[in-house]
Amino acid sequence: MNHFGHMVVGGIVGLVAMLILKEFSLPLVAICLLGSILPDIDLKQSKASQIVQPIAVLGVAFLLYPFFSTKFGALAAVVVSLAISAAVIFLVLFPLRLKHRGITHSWKAAAVFSIIGGLLLGINGGIIALLSYASHLVVDRI
Ligand SMILES: [Zn+2]
Repeated sequence: MNHFGHMVVGGIVGLVAMLILKEFSLPLVAICLLGSILPDIDLKQSKASQIVQPIAVLGVAFLLYPFFSTKFGALAAVVVSLAISAAVIFLVLFPLRLKHRGITHSWKAAAVFSIIGGLLLGINGGIIALLSYASHLVVDRI
């Protein structure tokens, strides 16, 4: 199934869960839609890869910035942090492609995503993250 189909199925599952949990918010919708396509991050051209790669670059740059801000001025530290982060993400990490439908298509990965969702958005975020990720795993087996 393509990313749109996964998002439709994950969105329906997430919407039903939100109605049962009686909590609806844009962050919950966002984590629901992300979870429904995230397992396909092991495909280079997938929507999940296209969404996660820029976020990963910004996240690593955010972590590097405090180190470089002590060495350079603020603007130079931002540029150096982004350049090193982009190099690490695009030249080292993402070229190490995972086997399609390997670890990212496992219940362990679903549990990790659920924990992240729970830490970011509370227990309902964890539940929605788990259900949307699980919807992808189930649909891929049909
Ligand atoms: Zn998949």
